[in-house]
Amino acid sequence: MIYLDSNATTQVHPDVLDAMMPYLTDNWHNPSSGYRAAKRVREAIDLAHEQVAALINASAEEIVMTGCGTESNNAALAFLANQHRDTNKIVTSAIEHSAILRYVDALVDSNGMTVEHVGVDTGGRLDLDAYQAALNGAAMVSIMWANNETGVIQPIDEASALARKAGIPFHTDAIQAVGKTPIDVQQTPVDFLSISGHKFHAPKGVGALYIRSGMRFEPMLRGGGQEGGRRSGTENVAGIVALGKAAELMKVRLDDDNHAGIASLRDHMEDRLLAEIRGVNRNGSLEHRTANTSHLSFDGCEAAGLLILLDEYGVQCSAGSACMTGKQQPSHVQTAMSISPTQAKSSLRLSLSIFSTRADVDTAVEAIQKAVSKLRSVQGNSGVGPVQVYTSD
Ligand SMILES: *Cc1c(COP(=O)(O)O)cnc(C)c1O
Repeated sequence: MIYLDSNATTQVHPDVLDAMMPYLTDNWHNPSSGYRAAKRVREAIDLAHEQVAALINASAEEIVMTGCGTESNNAALAFLANQHRDTNKIVTSAIEHSAILRYVDALVDSNGMTVEHVGVDTGGRLDLDAYQAALNGAAMVSIMWANNETGVIQPIDEASALARKAGIPFHTDAIQAVGKTPIDVQQTPVDFLSISGHKFHAPKGVGALYIRSGMRFEPMLRGGGQEGGRRSGTENVAGIVALGKAAELMKVRLDDDNHAGIASLRDHMEDRLLAEIRGVNRNGSLEHRTANTSHLSFDGCEAAGLLILLDEYGVQCSAGSACMTGKQQPSHVQTAMSISPTQAKSSLRLSLSIFSTRADVDTAVEAIQKAVSKLRSVQGNSGVGPVQVYTSD
């Protein structure tokens, strides 16, 4: 099977597995215990904080390990909402992940807060003018760094600077950006930033929340005082070690060539699809997107049908968003981008990883071509079938 669904999750990197394995076997002690074996476990946790911090140019004390990206998002929003009961307006975007949108819904329902969902342009980028207007009277902001469906990178430098100027705390769901695009919290004035391990080759079930030094924070989970009292619960040691190792691996790649290899594979795939299949559209800003993501619509093809055929032909990918697969409505992200419902329902998200190869991408292109032709012939759309046979170079 060829895996092109890396925005849904990624495979654990073999080096990450090697790094975490000792903490599932010999080094199983509770890091809070007093004997030497436990201190070694504590040191591994400390190192992981440094590795995660280094990936975003933070310091180790600013990193709180959590149970997943969703928890990081919820914990930041819960704290900010609690702290600002008096001014009760939340500013977020129309294209957030459900791990933000559903929590904000709950704050509106149960805490009596109000929310403004700032829109995006047709390229899927935040409307900064509308955002700036929305900041008026706001208590807190949460804007994602990169979108999970389109890979479009948001103007976080500008958005966070505007919030800072207005004295409003700023959270970003950076789960699709961390490890994929350079992040430097010394340059970008975000106060809280969410991370999830399984989107960059650590296992599922571990995440982190960056909390800028000097920001107040109150935890969701209280108990034994782990993570500096900011997230109690005996640590998921192996998961934390894995997150640290994955962060280290991604930092090397970002420093090295900013994932130029993945970007060029993605571009090669898009070039072939656009050249060989009629009626293909690329969605979202081409200039501002993560290296690994391609969001395409195929005229006259329902994504649901494409996915079934592609699975049969050995290619795993998603329709728009993994969370929306199986549902009939176009996703909220594509609606916000003013993509028509028909085009939205005919779109695929192809997301690569560091393990993707040229052979994978070429095989996927051929499978997509076959699936599109088949669907179009079944649906009687022969007028928009394939136009030429591609000669590979
Ligand atoms: C995957 C994802 C999440 C959820 O992270 P989990 O670790 O799976 O809870 C939140 N936001 C975005 C943008 C994501 O891509």
